[in-house]
Amino acid sequence: MFILMKRRNILIGLLVVALTVGLCFAVTTTATSAYSVPKIGKTVVIDAGHGGADGGVVGVTTSVKESDINLSIARSLKHFLKTKGYDVVMTRSTTDGLYGMTTKNKKLKDMQERKRIIENSNADLVVSVHCNSYPRHDQLGAQVFYAPGSEDGKQKAEMMQSVLGATLNTSRKAQSGDYFILQCSALPSVLVECGFLSTPEEEKLLVTSAYQEKVAYAIFTGIHTILGDA
Ligand SMILES: [Zn+2]
Repeated sequence: MFILMKRRNILIGLLVVALTVGLCFAVTTTATSAYSVPKIGKTVVIDAGHGGADGGVVGVTTSVKESDINLSIARSLKHFLKTKGYDVVMTRSTTDGLYGMTTKNKKLKDMQERKRIIENSNADLVVSVHCNSYPRHDQLGAQVFYAPGSEDGKQKAEMMQSVLGATLNTSRKAQSGDYFILQCSALPSVLVECGFLSTPEEEKLLVTSAYQEKVAYAIFTGIHTILGDA
């Protein structure tokens, strides 16, 4: 009986070891196989605008929150960049804002946290993702913004805008914009307004995952145009 028990214990022990090794192997392979492409040594911060209590602008017919569309585009963009070997830092990966448990000054805390993440990233490029809104319901097209007075920002924004123009069919021009995220660090930064949620025909596109992926791929192509051969 004692020997039998012992043997059974040994067998159970071996089984546990085998399962653990198997599981570790599975986890490791899953973790590495997702993006087993050579790293190209470039880091991009993707900043999905708004989140949590701050939904940003809303869709004129569906009331969709800009924050959700921004996140969805940001996630696809991350995937495209990782597939190409870029390192990616997301300012947020969930629908939550970045103000933690605080009940006061949420917006200020959120922006301070984005600034902290961006400064610590030492990234080659910061790309902030937003959706636009306008009082009239006839505005269309993605538009890229850069920090006022930044020649480097302007150049990069124009490169991004020309890719978006070719892929998303817009004739808008890159423009300087007084946005916190563009000026909160010394890192090269652009802000992409992906389209107008105040215009029903563009809202109709922006709420679909197919168009969100199309926008993400266009931004990815813009980033690779800016950084790929640098
Ligand atoms: Zn926004």
